[in-house]
Amino acid sequence: MNVNEELRKKEKFALIGQMAAAIGHEIRNPLSSLKGFTQLQQERNPDGNQFYPIMIEEIDRINSIVDDLMYLGKPKGIKFESAHIEEIITYTHSITKHQAERQGIAFETTMADSIPPLECDEKRLKQVFLNLIKNAIESMPEGGKIQVLVKCVEDRKIYISIQDEGYGIAEESLPNLGEPFFTTKKDGTGLGLLVTNQIIKDHNGELKIESEIGIGTKVKVMLPIYQG
Ligand code: ADP
Ligand code: MG
Repeated sequence: MNVNEELRKKEKFALIGQMAAAIGHEIRNPLSSLKGFTQLQQERNPDGNQFYPIMIEEIDRINSIVDDLMYLGKPKGIKFESAHIEEIITYTHSITKHQAERQGIAFETTMADSIPPLECDEKRLKQVFLNLIKNAIESMPEGGKIQVLVKCVEDRKIYISIQDEGYGIAEESLPNLGEPFFTTKKDGTGLGLLVTNQIIKDHNGELKIESEIGIGTKVKVMLPIYQG
């Protein structure tokens, strides 16, 4: 790619990012009032309607897409604080639990003892693991198992792997992963890995994907415990 094309691509991407952030911003407020009213209804009829939890879960899913959209527009808005990886993983499980159950998917989480808190943007890391777990779930329409492993490695790093037994990724798709809007799903956005990669990069971490068609996919994330 020559310098001009490179520049054009950058400009185009900046424009897409601004648009995405503006749209995301407009969707966010009405969505949070919808969620509030749904929760209120649920509290009013505690044993009334089995659809409330699903409605709330779906709103959370839209919210996570909106978060991805908004991150594209302002990727540098990251704030480091101390947080526990256990809580981040537990949160992503709680949001995806119902969908996993409906699809006959079991989580198996192995967490090493005494993992120290890490310096991170907790909200952004939740977004990362939500995206990765969602991809794992979506790769197993017929059910299966998702294994999550968390441990400390090397010097002051946390390693997290997410392994599914899904349909896997074709070799020729591998170079396209994380390209804006690259998706093989009929209702995919192709934003998940793009944003996930960016957030991990902003944490000075690393993401690697190994995959075999028909066997499954393993996503490995490495995050430093301390920043800077
Ligand atoms: P989306 O999920 O909206 O398609 P992503 O950026 O999250 O967008 O993923 C891009 C593509 O990468 C997916 O459409 C899929 O083809 C592939 N992919 C990502 N994770 C997995 C996985 N765990 N198993 C199989 N394919 C995956
Ligand atoms: Mg995805």
